[in-house]
Order: sequence, then C-alpha cells, then structure tokens
Amino acid sequence: MRNPSPVIDPKRLRRRMVNELKVRGITDPAVLQAMVEVPRHLFVQEAWRTQAYEDASLPIGCNQTISQPFIVALMSQELETSPGMRILEVGTGSGYQAAILAALGCTVFTIERLRELYQSTSMLLRQLGIRNIHMQRRDGTLGLPEAAPFDRIIVTAGGPEIPRPLLEQLDTGGILLIPVGDKPRLQRLVRIRKTFQGMLKEDLGPVVFVDLIGDHGWQATGCNVHNKELS
Ligand code: SAM
Repeated sequence: MRNPSPVIDPKRLRRRMVNELKVRGITDPAVLQAMVEVPRHLFVQEAWRTQAYEDASLPIGCNQTISQPFIVALMSQELETSPGMRILEVGTGSGYQAAILAALGCTVFTIERLRELYQSTSMLLRQLGIRNIHMQRRDGTLGLPEAAPFDRIIVTAGGPEIPRPLLEQLDTGGILLIPVGDKPRLQRLVRIRKTFQGMLKEDLGPVVFVDLIGDHGWQATGCNVHNKELS
C-alpha cells in the first residue's frame, strides 16, 4: 500500500518563509508577524497552492500576479506603518498585500481596475472576515478623493510617473511608495515623504511589476482584453 501524501502545515511553511525573509534583511517584527499570520496560500489559485510559500510571484489570472513575499515584506516595511493608519493601496490584485497591511492594524482602502479580480478578491476578503479593508473598482491612478487624505499610499503596479492625484491625496507627514520607470515592467521603487518643506524622494532600488494602467499610468494598448477594461 502506498503512503498517503504528507499533509503540509501551512503555518510551518510560513515560519520557514519568514526565516528566509529575515536572512534577506526584513527586520520589522510587526511585518514578520503579519507574514506569519496571513495565509498566502488562500490568495493564490488552487493550481499554485503548493508554491504559495516560495519566494516567487505567481499568476492570479487576467495576466496579473501576486507579488513575491520578499517584495510584499519589503514594501510593508518601507511604508513605516503604525496601527490605526489609513492606507490607500492601488492594485489590489489577489488582496494579499492589503491583508498584510490590515494585519498590521491599518485601515486599508484598496483599488482594483479589473472586474474579474475585483469580484474574486472582494469575495475572498469577505469569506476571510477581514473587516478593515475597503475595496473599490476604478482607475486607482486617480486615487480615492472621497476618503483622502491618507497616511500612506502604496502602488503595487509600475507606472511611467508618480500620479499627481496620489501626491495630492497624501497627508503631510505621509509616505507614498510606487514603482516608477520609463519601460513597462522594469522600474525603480520610489519612496516619497510629504513634508511641510516639500516632497523628499528616495530610490529604494530596482523592482519588476506589472503595468499601472490608467489616466496617470500607461495607456491600455494591444489586444489584451484585460488591458482594455476601464479604458
Ligand atoms: N497587491 C497585489 C497583491 O497583493 O496581489 C499585487 C498587485 S498586481 C502586481 C497589480 C495589480 O494592479 C493588478 O491586479 C492590476 O489589475 C492592478 N492595476 C493596474 N493598474 C491599475 C489602476 N490604474 N488602478 C487599479 N488597479 C490597477
């Protein structure tokens, strides 16, 4: 008789993932704890579940991806959050980054432009009973003026420039993180601090994200039906 396949404990896999994140320089204890708590395997499609705790981005449908755990941890750390902050996320995708920010005790307003992802992710967040995430479907490069100002803004898709509406909707003392580059899918991660004296800009290094598409992002092009949505 063959042995039944071993049951893999997702929490054990998450602890192993977090140990690797520490080795790679993630030091914020609250971020590491959130990464232990949030079940990443539930945010990926069934076919990819066995790879959910590898340090890789994975397809989530509609030609989009869930970011690799290291990038999610790095962006969460560089965002310098505290519990109670109001955060705007542009590019909900699977909802995983939003769930990490919610686990950090923040109230998250998250925007996704694609109908299919909006529907599947809002259903998942409801099923998981995560209350401090508010999801909208629209062009996130225009922000969410009715809920502004935000303490933090995180953009998880790469655009050619920093969308002006997002700078306007960032509170003074706030931080905006966004991948920016003139070539699609090849960007620098930029951090902006809005101070009374002006905007302070830092380059946090190279990253690769799917395209930010919208009025203040890339234009929707080609025959990709998903790119044309909302355009
Ligand atoms: N944060 C996501 C996660 O945790 O799974 C990963 C996001 S995925 C790399 C980028 C997402 O941004 C895609 O779902 C894409 O549809 C979305 N997106 C691109 N342009 C957008 C826009 N203007 N407004 C809102 N969402 C946008």
